[in-house]
Amino acid sequence: MQTLANPQELAGQCRNWHTQGQSIALVPTMGCYHAGHEALMRYGRTVATRLVVSLFVNPAQFGPGEDLDAYPRDEARDEAVAEACGADVLFMPQPGDIYMPDHAAWVDVPDMAAGLCGKSRPTHFRGVCTVVLKLLLLTLADVAVFGEKDWQQQAIIRRMARDLGVQTRIESRPVVRDPDGLALSSRNVYLTVEERAQAPEIRRALRCAQEMASRGEKNAAILQQAVLRRWAEHLSLGRLDYLAVVRPDTLVPLSAIDGPALMACAVQLGRSRLIDNILLHT
Ligand code: AMP
Repeated sequence: MQTLANPQELAGQCRNWHTQGQSIALVPTMGCYHAGHEALMRYGRTVATRLVVSLFVNPAQFGPGEDLDAYPRDEARDEAVAEACGADVLFMPQPGDIYMPDHAAWVDVPDMAAGLCGKSRPTHFRGVCTVVLKLLLLTLADVAVFGEKDWQQQAIIRRMARDLGVQTRIESRPVVRDPDGLALSSRNVYLTVEERAQAPEIRRALRCAQEMASRGEKNAAILQQAVLRRWAEHLSLGRLDYLAVVRPDTLVPLSAIDGPALMACAVQLGRSRLIDNILLHT
């Protein structure tokens, strides 16, 4: 595995591979790898002949007062994990390699970025879209792989790619969880023992709503109330950021479940802001 920091070297390597008729999968990450990242990398390995993993804690997707400086980092271990998962290149640029001091061009999908996580993180998805498009342009990847834990992110990236004519196929993969149901997240390392004990309640309550929907409950408000009641009882350390029912592709809020629907949430648990989601079937 090659570790590269220079965007032009990455682009040159990818051009060479394409000239040789090879295909490229890209897995963008912010590092501190867990089994969720590993699943994306191993999947990427199976859908192209070359695998590029990027590791970049993207300042543009952190707002003022968020955890940019404290974001967990473990680059030495991450290099070993990426190599073990079959990466051909680990691209680890510095912010100055990605953003010129007078960087001025941004990519945004404002309608889809305004709700859910965008309510409390208004510039987050603009930062995500901009860096992901840069990575897609540098690699001209045939396929890029994202996790469904960040459902809103993959939905926005799909829309960005569609609307801008990006030729890369965007794929998303299921959430990888701890055995008790907590979605793996680099931010789980911030949880205290007490917070970690309550954290699986996020998923349990969503599962209850899914069960209610599968038994015929179509009213989104009733499903949300059931989740909130359960959290009031079992997730006393958590502070709700949002709980919403939306169309999975457009993220438009739904009041009735009469087709594909996604329940998504963010809960602040101590220092960690945890997100999760579940598809509701009627
Ligand atoms: P991050 O390093 O948190 O920016 O995540 C990099 C990629 O890994 C994103 O596409 C995430 O959606 C994905 N990811 C993070 N956690 C998980 C998980 N528990 N299961 C599946 N994918 C994940």
